[in-house]
Amino acid sequence: MSTELKYTPIDQLAKIHETLNATFRSGKTLPLDYRRQQLLQLSRLVAENKDAISAAVVADLAKPQLEILMTELVPMATRAADAAKSLEEWTAPEKPAVAGHESWNVTVNKVPKGVALIISPWNYPVHLTISPLIGAIAAGCPAVIKPSENTANTSRVLAELFPKYLDTSAYQLVNGGVPETTELLKLPWDHIFYTGNGTVGRIVATAAAKHLTPITLELGGQCPVIVDPAYDMKIAAKRILFGKGLNAGQICNAPNHVLVPVEKQAELVEALKATLKEFYPNGALDKSSTYGRIINPNHFRRIQGLLKRTQGEIVFGGAVEGERGIEPTIVQNVKAGDSLLEDEIFGPILPIVPVANVDEAIEWVNRFPHALTLYAFTEDEALKKKILAHTNSGGLTFNHTFMNLAADEAPFGGHGASGHGYQHGVYSYKTFTHLRTSLDMPSDAEAFPGFTYAPYAQGVVDY
Ligand code: NAD
Repeated sequence: MSTELKYTPIDQLAKIHETLNATFRSGKTLPLDYRRQQLLQLSRLVAENKDAISAAVVADLAKPQLEILMTELVPMATRAADAAKSLEEWTAPEKPAVAGHESWNVTVNKVPKGVALIISPWNYPVHLTISPLIGAIAAGCPAVIKPSENTANTSRVLAELFPKYLDTSAYQLVNGGVPETTELLKLPWDHIFYTGNGTVGRIVATAAAKHLTPITLELGGQCPVIVDPAYDMKIAAKRILFGKGLNAGQICNAPNHVLVPVEKQAELVEALKATLKEFYPNGALDKSSTYGRIINPNHFRRIQGLLKRTQGEIVFGGAVEGERGIEPTIVQNVKAGDSLLEDEIFGPILPIVPVANVDEAIEWVNRFPHALTLYAFTEDEALKKKILAHTNSGGLTFNHTFMNLAADEAPFGGHGASGHGYQHGVYSYKTFTHLRTSLDMPSDAEAFPGFTYAPYAQGVVDY
């Protein structure tokens, strides 16, 4: 498969923005029938082209087919169709009663914010491009979608399919790298939805601030795992490695490192090693294995560099293949300041950090910026409450990893350094929606008798 990706000419970007604005002003994207039809088209785009899209993702990331189906194609086809079914409910205006003024006619209208810009990263090139778009279409917002240039095959296939299924006067896919995205960011959007790393997140936030454009930042960071010594280490090992093995650890909420009371480190490490042997009996890098590859040689070298500098002990894995294969690798006795804890690993390396006890693990978590997801393995309800009350993060998942992404009915988003704003289900819709309150005052209702019009009466309020 060719990796050549045709970039959208920079001089066309302002024109695209103008076209989408004209479409929005015309009211074309407002009717629910239009939104429903576009959402169903988006669902069809994924379902009818699953083989072509899947082949492109394999060419970019060498992900196993089942992983692509379960994490990219099925959820996107389903969620777009679900959103189409939910439009009546989501968009229904609300009529709050105003205390003491029952005759006032107040309506909370759910109106589209306007024309949106969606910028996506490479690690889930279908899911992270389509998921925010579902929200934009559901809300009645036209959008420019800018997928990652790092997944050239997927971005090219999506660019070919979008105009075949979606209304190009409202939804345009722009391909490009930094110069094209920089140019897009100069334009006055009504919402920017960015998914990617925090460094670019700051660039996006700065550009948006110039136009006071509201933004959603879906960023990354280190997602720590706290393990209660009383928890079953075999179950913990299996569930931690599920989240670390998917997409070879290149997931925003992959477990980054594990904080385990020192007396349980050896038992956990043994369970992790046994699990990896079960998951990949012939080794993860075996051609028949269900294990993906690193996106490109740059990221491969970055991860290799972290491993070379670690002061911890590599107790499993460490093998590489070519310029993109890195075996799942367990490193124990990792201490604060280690290379593996400098930043989000975004690869298949799992550092184990021994701590004195769970309280020290909680203190550790609180010394770092808020994670996208904090994980904890414990059956102790009091400890769960303590972790919920005494830590902060985008989300909190007990006793599994990654599964919070499958709960589409709940909001997903970061907090602080891991981003802000929400997506999934109705929350994606809300992200692109402005709550526009209207008040229609009945002509026979006097708002505050004695106060509204001068001269004010005396003794109107007894306070
Ligand atoms: P990436 O390199 O593909 O970049 C993301 C997007 O930003 C691309 O579309 C790219 O063109 C654009 N971009 C890159 N440099 C830019 C610049 N200087 N100016 C303007 N735009 C620029 O992907 P990435 O950032 O490496 O993605 C991985 C990161 O994304 C990780 O940190 C991961 O945790 C995070 N992530 C977060 C979520 C989430 O939902 N919170 C999901 C997936 C990934």
